[in-house]
Amino acid sequence: MAASTVTETRETDLLASVPDGLFIGGEWRAATGDRTLRVFDPATGRVVKTIADASPEDGKAALDAAVAAADDWAKTPARERAEILRRAFDLLQERKEDFALLMTIEMGKPLAEARGEVGYGGEFLRWFSEETARVQGRYGANPEGTGRMIVSQHPVGPCFLITPWNFPLAMATRKIAPALAAGCTVVIKPAELTPLTTLYFAKLLQDAGLPAGVVNVFTTSTSGAVSEPIIRDPRLRKLSFTGSTSVGQRLLEQAAQGVLRTSMELGGNAPFVVFEDADLDKAVDGAMLAKFRNIGQACTAANRFIVHRSVAEEFANRVTERVQAMRIGRGTEDGVQIGPLIDDKAVAKAEELVGDAIERGATLRTGGQRPDGDDTLSAGTFYEPTVITDVQAGSDILREEIFGPVLAIVPFDTEDDAVRIANDTEYGLVSYVFTESLSRGQRMIDRLETGMMGLNVGVVSNAAAPFGGWKMSGLGREGGAEGIHEYLQTKYTLTANPYS
Ligand code: NAD
Repeated sequence: MAASTVTETRETDLLASVPDGLFIGGEWRAATGDRTLRVFDPATGRVVKTIADASPEDGKAALDAAVAAADDWAKTPARERAEILRRAFDLLQERKEDFALLMTIEMGKPLAEARGEVGYGGEFLRWFSEETARVQGRYGANPEGTGRMIVSQHPVGPCFLITPWNFPLAMATRKIAPALAAGCTVVIKPAELTPLTTLYFAKLLQDAGLPAGVVNVFTTSTSGAVSEPIIRDPRLRKLSFTGSTSVGQRLLEQAAQGVLRTSMELGGNAPFVVFEDADLDKAVDGAMLAKFRNIGQACTAANRFIVHRSVAEEFANRVTERVQAMRIGRGTEDGVQIGPLIDDKAVAKAEELVGDAIERGATLRTGGQRPDGDDTLSAGTFYEPTVITDVQAGSDILREEIFGPVLAIVPFDTEDDAVRIANDTEYGLVSYVFTESLSRGQRMIDRLETGMMGLNVGVVSNAAAPFGGWKMSGLGREGGAEGIHEYLQTKYTLTANPYS
């Protein structure tokens, strides 16, 4: 095993300081019947902590607390709400190393990337602390001059937030911060695979002075059974979900009954288009980021590398060389770039997709298997970073989200072909385009059916930008000036003409 600056004692002490209960109405409590669930380290397969496993009654108690706190929080002056968010941002900077290590332990990402996530996740606290005081309405005469129109913004009310396992901190702050900024109280349910970061973050919010009941957290191994009654409860006013499209569709059906406001950040199948006039140095750097960040487990991960035939071979050679130099291991070890996948199912999926592509005629350049001959990796769910070229139309890997470190290259001949291949998916979250031609870049902005685009860059996420997808990648936007409006509702009031 490679050297690590993180000692076992440091890990044990950190894990001991993470709460293991449900956070409801400002108090930490056990689940009904003292039910528990275990959290694992995907790099070692070891149990790292046992925490509360909520039942439907616990879920209801969490919603009760959010409802009870809603009026007071909505009335709390914007400046006060902003200052709590800002204190949370400051505390997160102080605890940055703890949050980073905790994410590496429960999710597997390399420590350097986990630190990056603390930076990114924290920015939502800062951004929305600044946006809090900027919520405005308008006032003016109606066109007929017979009255005065007032347009005002109001918090939507109690919200239910459901987050995935791949970005345990950032997906939580991207929802909690705008909700709190808008004056809404929340119940949040983190993924059962990586619940510790959200529990630790709830403790931070307590330390930042957040009043009881404004944020409530439950963890559970039975997400569907506990969530559905909350979604169907008429007191709930908003559901914000990040996760797979299939679960999102099911939750939208449940939300339809109460005509709930919904935000859906769902799956992706990002095209990464390299034109013949691209700067290949930039394209290769962008590809490494867009593909291998978070071990390929990001909704924004480039899924299909659509590369002009004249540069496809050189591009493939250069990424293969970079991939072969990557270090696999537990994320706490120095220099590791590829940690474990989240679980065995994820490894099996990567194996199946690569196997299917090869069977249909693709060429394996590197990787394509679980790392062998290394005992320290055999207990974890590792998969070698992989490059495959000449992927044929109809291969599963072009249609499904890979969610693993597999870079799949498809050659193209004309700009129209590139656009057709890129748009040939039900998803529309993000696209990446590499070209040195301004007019071609502008055409791609018009023609690619995605909610976000990286033009000569491999990562687009920013707290100040509206994150979200087109087509089956979702509804609504998180971050940017748009983000807070997901948690506000508009009221128009007509008042009489003051002179009549
Ligand atoms: P998932 O859909 O399996 O789970 C997401 C969350 O939903 C988890 O908390 C899970 O416990 C919960 N859940 C599962 N079934 C549920 C049910 N019946 N009722 C209520 N909650 C339920 O997704 P995942 O595997 O955790 O995350 C990976 C997926 O998330 C990928 O598809 C990825 O693209 C997507 N994702 C999207 C974004 C985005 O912003 N668009 C960001 C990150 C991840």
